[in-house]
Amino acid sequence: MSNHSAGVYRRRRVFILVFGLLLLIIAVSLCLLLTRGDDQQLDAQVADIQPEPATQAEVTPNTPQVEVTPNTPQDSAAKIGDPTAGALTPQTATEPFTRDGVIVVNKKHPLPESYNPGENPEAVAALKKLIQSGKAAGLDLIDSWSGFRSYTYQSTLFNNYSASSGVTAAETYSARPGYSEHQTGLAFDLKDSTQNLYRIDDPTYKFDTDWVAQHCSDFGFILRYRDEWQSETGYVGEPWHLRYLGVELAKKVATSGKTLEAYLGVEGGDYRR
Ligand SMILES: [Zn+2]
Repeated sequence: MSNHSAGVYRRRRVFILVFGLLLLIIAVSLCLLLTRGDDQQLDAQVADIQPEPATQAEVTPNTPQVEVTPNTPQDSAAKIGDPTAGALTPQTATEPFTRDGVIVVNKKHPLPESYNPGENPEAVAALKKLIQSGKAAGLDLIDSWSGFRSYTYQSTLFNNYSASSGVTAAETYSARPGYSEHQTGLAFDLKDSTQNLYRIDDPTYKFDTDWVAQHCSDFGFILRYRDEWQSETGYVGEPWHLRYLGVELAKKVATSGKTLEAYLGVEGGDYRR
């Protein structure tokens, strides 16, 4: 091997070594880049995945809460359109039906036969004030009323009405026992000086202009039954029948122009047949 050849050989070896090293560095760099890319991809995947369970964890418990929150825990489940409404009877019901903490009694929602709270003292105090103010405004009202009725008393009343006018007719103005709002102790029928129900035989009566209808919410009451509401309340109009809700809620319901059923989103109307 000549010196020249040896020199060329050495340079070639150096070149191969350098070239090899370069290749190695490039290969290692490529490997590192690819690995990092995978990590980033993984990171990206984890980032994609992680928010999902987090979102689900937030959404899942919230969805039922949205429906539950407006109702107090003791509220009955049945809502408008609920096929179970009216399935309970005074004999099978164990507690009053409530919505937003408000007891609702109608032909779909009876009270338990044993529910016997008596007249609500707060409601009676408010009723006395209403009567006093009504009299001062010139109304023919007296300081007596038909308030709380027990299951047994409503039984007698309904049987008497049914005997005199037939069950079908009686059901339009008198409740079956267990289905009367009077059993709550929060409903009152106003009377006039002839001991008749307030304006029962008055052909000039109009809900829109009557003092009681206009002012009862100031004392915490609503007029529960109007003729045009019969499909929702289950009864023909009763100018004398008041339901105590407290001033705040009574004003809200009165202002809404809705029945108590529609305001609270509760099934009403006729008995379940
Ligand atoms: Zn009544």
